Amino acid sequence: MPKYQCHRKECNRIRSEFSIFLNRRRPPQYEGHAFCSDSCLQMHFEEELREKWRRLQKDSDPKIPRPKLGTILMQTAFITRDQLDEAIKLQNQTREGRIGEWLQRLGFVEEHQITEALAQQYGLPLINLHNSDANADAVRMIPGKVAKCSGLVPVGFDDSQTALQIAVTAPVNFHSQEAIRRMVRKGIVAYIGDESAIDKLLRKLYEPEDLDLSNVPTFRSLEDLTELGNEMIASAINNRAQDIRAELVQDFFWMRLDYPTQSHHHFFRYLPTPVQVRDLVEEKERTVRYGVGS
Ligand SMILES: [Zn+2]
Repeated sequence: MPKYQCHRKECNRIRSEFSIFLNRRRPPQYEGHAFCSDSCLQMHFEEELREKWRRLQKDSDPKIPRPKLGTILMQTAFITRDQLDEAIKLQNQTREGRIGEWLQRLGFVEEHQITEALAQQYGLPLINLHNSDANADAVRMIPGKVAKCSGLVPVGFDDSQTALQIAVTAPVNFHSQEAIRRMVRKGIVAYIGDESAIDKLLRKLYEPEDLDLSNVPTFRSLEDLTELGNEMIASAINNRAQDIRAELVQDFFWMRLDYPTQSHHHFFRYLPTPVQVRDLVEEKERTVRYGVGS
């Protein structure tokens, strides 16, 4: 008779096929792991969530020293020191936009030069998206809201079909990339693409409502999030989900519930304070999408 060891570390219960038969159902799996009971699954979920939250708050992205974008553009796009200073001045005065954006607005560089400089800055390969076709399987793996909030677009698979290729405007935060990898259960290979092409492709591949972040429910704290998550878990258990996955990606909580014939995705958005919420989120999106300090 097959036995099921509970995945929760503190639990030593082993279930037999017979006890599952007595219970008339088995609890859903969490990230592919089996649990002896709904409560063990729920406790494991809460522990995981705390850990993910802690990692996100710590923001321990590996700090790799990188050349500044302006310096690269002076070498590759032949902008002058004066032109760079002018862009920096405008950026400081208006407290908005990135340095590359200002250089482009002032007519000193073309978009592709910024994209190339970003690829050099982050050591990522370039991708030309202007003639790309949709790969429906790749698009299905990343919900529109995740793509939108992370500034990425899925473009296809590598030759061995083991990794999902994504195009980004700036590298997706390390922890978020790991989170996306766990959610799609595939490796992620990132390329740098033109921002305008990524935006255009997003709008081509997804329906407008899939990209709309304005009506996503929000949470303000880990307590809020745990409560929301537990509600989702309870409903997943009731509805006989087979597997549950949950990750924090940038400032979004993404939950994936796998049912026999389909997957449901749910999103919640982190809004820490009620004041100037829109400004804060927009600023964060910019920072996340385009990288800081360039
Ligand atoms: Zn257990």
